Amino acid sequence: MSFQNDIICESCDKIYANIDYKWCRQCVINNLEKNFTNWTSGNEKIDNFIQIMQLKIKGYHDIIVEWIPYNQFNNVKKTNEDGLTTAIWKDGLLKYDEKERKHKRISNMEVSLKCLNNSQNVINEFSNEVETYQYSIDHIPEIYGISQHPDTKNYIIVFESNYCNECGEIYANIDYKWCKQCIINNFKKNFMNWTSGNEKIDNFIQIMQLKIKRYNVIVEWIPYNQFNNVKKPNEDGLAIAIWKDGLLIYDEKERKHKRIPNIGVSLKCLNNLQNVINEFSNEVKAHQYSIVSKGHIPEIFGISQHPDTKNYIIVFESNYCNECGEIYTEIGYKWCIQCQINNLKQNFTNWTSGNEKIDDFIQEMQLKIEKYDDIVEWIPYNQFKNVKKIGKDGFATAIWKNGSLKFNYEEINYKRKPNEEVTLKCLNDSQNVISDLLNEVKAYFINLNPIVYGISQNPDTKNYIIVLNNSYCKECGEIYTEIDLKWCKQCQINNLKQNFSNWISGNEKIDDFIQEMQLKIEKYDDII
Ligand SMILES: [Zn+2]
Ligand SMILES: [Zn+2]
Ligand SMILES: [Zn+2]
Ligand SMILES: [Zn+2]
Repeated sequence: MSFQNDIICESCDKIYANIDYKWCRQCVINNLEKNFTNWTSGNEKIDNFIQIMQLKIKGYHDIIVEWIPYNQFNNVKKTNEDGLTTAIWKDGLLKYDEKERKHKRISNMEVSLKCLNNSQNVINEFSNEVETYQYSIDHIPEIYGISQHPDTKNYIIVFESNYCNECGEIYANIDYKWCKQCIINNFKKNFMNWTSGNEKIDNFIQIMQLKIKRYNVIVEWIPYNQFNNVKKPNEDGLAIAIWKDGLLIYDEKERKHKRIPNIGVSLKCLNNLQNVINEFSNEVKAHQYSIVSKGHIPEIFGISQHPDTKNYIIVFESNYCNECGEIYTEIGYKWCIQCQINNLKQNFTNWTSGNEKIDDFIQEMQLKIEKYDDIVEWIPYNQFKNVKKIGKDGFATAIWKNGSLKFNYEEINYKRKPNEEVTLKCLNDSQNVISDLLNEVKAYFINLNPIVYGISQNPDTKNYIIVLNNSYCKECGEIYTEIDLKWCKQCQINNLKQNFSNWISGNEKIDDFIQEMQLKIEKYDDII
């Protein structure tokens, strides 16, 4: 049975500790144990301690604590008052790569080093850190290993770095490795590269930049030629435009500042200088109290000046649709319901199910859309490949080539998710009872679990098909216990039962143990 390969480790015949990622705890421990002879700290107590830590590894995401020779560190900076310094660990941390399904090192990794005076302290410090980690909600740095300074012979605890490698200051945002000090230094260096032409405004923007608190909002001087498509101001004196270079934001994944080009902005024209500064101060206040007042307050991006009128302009995050000029239905997501409906309407002529009732139904559903993620479509059958029947009557899985239309929150627009796995529910003789088909689609639409993507039709049988998000187990055809995780409780229990009886049966104690475990599985990530 191919299924056994999915849950049993080829090397040791044990069930994977993590089946999804094929992570075999036993094999990892065996390898670590084999490697015990290849390293030593030179101190038996510390060797034992690290060995015990390694053998205690539980899950694939646990850190494997190591002895790290001091020559592994580059760029060791001066130690600060807390006895902490930063360095680059050449080989880097051993981490389980979920995609490649093996342990790999992350080379040239930034780390913090904490110097200790005697070896007993190392072990105490370790235990303390582990305890704090368990009881803390805040971000406590992970411990990677132990090292020793070759000259002082002091032991060193090697941590995840909380300190900026450039300037040695603690990160203002540790999770995102965002260093306020370095940002401010960069702003300062850049002061001579721009000017509004007015000293007061220059000073004001500079002060705003130096006062930066959050990593996502930076106020700038924006030259007017940066704006495209400037529309006429509305009653509130607000105009909309496209900012070519766009906003400077901190990319949490790449961990650096990047511009989002061609973003829609609102422009507010002001008559005199004092107004600009007052308006700014008011806006800053509004942000401070926004937790209380709830609604989304537009962020201020910067100041500009009209080249002809010489009026100053405050540049805001846009609350107004760039297409139609109306206020966004969902300001946070820049989503305009009217424009969405217009786009869908324009597309009515580009598709047909071949059945007027179904066309009318889908069109009506599209015109009634209320939220940014509920679009029901007609999906031609040739959009599906790898159609495979699954357990239940009429159910199949398939790959939808173009994939569903999803709202992309990062890019703030709709995007298809190509080659998306979906569940097809085929309704026999549905060509005769269209109303039943449509009622069923409506029911899915209201319940949202599973999510209905649209309707299709098998060209041979002429049966209609309801297209759902991938929500039914491929093994047994029942709906997943947890759809988001694609986890079927019943199948996992059955598989464990079968595998144990195939491989280890005959031992009463183990049988009892399995039964006990079977009753206990409730969540997909329970350790087995
Ligand atoms: Zn194994
Ligand atoms: Zn820094
Ligand atoms: Zn619009
Ligand atoms: Zn199942």
